[in-house]
Amino acid sequence: MEAKCLKKINDRTLLTHAAVNPSEHHGFINPAIFRGSTVAFPNVAALAEGRQPYRYGRWDNPTSTALCEAISTLEGATGTVLCPSGLTACTTAILAICGAGDHLLVPDSVYGPVRYFCATVARRMDIETTYYDPRDGAGIANLFQPNTRAVFLESPGSGTFEIQDVPTITAVAHECDICVLMDNSWATPLFLKPLELGVDISIMAATKYIGGHSDVMLGTIACAPRAWEQVSDMHFQLGQFVGPDDVTLVLRGLRTLDVRLQRHQESALTIARWLEQHPEVSRVFYPALPSHPGHALWQRDFRGASGLLSFVTRSSSSNAVAAMIDGLKLFTIGYSWGGFESLALPVDPRSMRTATQWTETGHLIRLHIGLEDVDDLMADLKEGFNRLRNISDY
Ligand SMILES: *Cc1c(COP(=O)(O)O)cnc(C)c1O
Repeated sequence: MEAKCLKKINDRTLLTHAAVNPSEHHGFINPAIFRGSTVAFPNVAALAEGRQPYRYGRWDNPTSTALCEAISTLEGATGTVLCPSGLTACTTAILAICGAGDHLLVPDSVYGPVRYFCATVARRMDIETTYYDPRDGAGIANLFQPNTRAVFLESPGSGTFEIQDVPTITAVAHECDICVLMDNSWATPLFLKPLELGVDISIMAATKYIGGHSDVMLGTIACAPRAWEQVSDMHFQLGQFVGPDDVTLVLRGLRTLDVRLQRHQESALTIARWLEQHPEVSRVFYPALPSHPGHALWQRDFRGASGLLSFVTRSSSSNAVAAMIDGLKLFTIGYSWGGFESLALPVDPRSMRTATQWTETGHLIRLHIGLEDVDDLMADLKEGFNRLRNISDY
């Protein structure tokens, strides 16, 4: 309830005050970790009428209610549900909206495992997927069919960072009563608020920046009024549940999201500008760079850029790229991102594109810029480029 009065407050204040209700927790700032299945009812009448706030562990508990309330406030949502991973948040949202015979539009640069879900489970359920060029704006309407039920967005795109024209796509979709879902893991609601741009369902891998410490996996689905009932029903029917320890870690991460994102942004921009000037680099994909093809859209809709970017090396051998990455001391090789640490990962978009063509000849390397000192990170990369050049020369 209190969260509602916070809606007009700056996000920074909101992050520290949303769903903080000490009077409900014996004065302790944070909610307790409520572990449990059975919730006791005082008598049969109370059971029959279901008249108490918590009735069964899987449905709700004070720990998860606090996180849902905080996310809803931040997203400007009617309600939020929690899923055990970012991927289950994407798939649950799709299943909530699409059924047998429906058609779904998905950007070509979507997170790979969502694509896999569409090709397997969704196809088996007779949900047909068409991939579209993420750079399409109003042109996406050309792909609408009478049975198109939903448009999925992810901006920037995974690995290749295409920026989508979110308000234009939502406008043309809504004209045809098509639901718009958006994966907003990269920006978080601090840097982009999908629901304000007309999106019906805002999805996040809270595993990434919200958790922020690479120690937890969780997904959130925040809904505008018109999608809330369908999403909460599907979530309930599938029996989705996240344990209270994980919820607590994510709630804790949320409190420091603003300061962490500011540092990720500052360092990523410094490194992106430096990479752009580097002779071993042919292209840098980071929407905050004026050279990025989606920069104007990014500037119009986003309030910031986070710490994930990619770049293409000048033509070089796979061995040279491996030597560059293997020798990095401060960048870890691994999936995911959004934690405090820097990461480096070679990516091949070719295997995951059907509506667009990846024509770069160099190697694509994705970097997550962590919270380390930015000069230390650049020195590490600089040595990496030396290894790349030395091997390429032979
Ligand atoms: C990582 C990621 C996910 C999946 O999150 P998990 O918690 O790893 O399941 C979904 N979407 C995007 C854009 C991601 O980067």
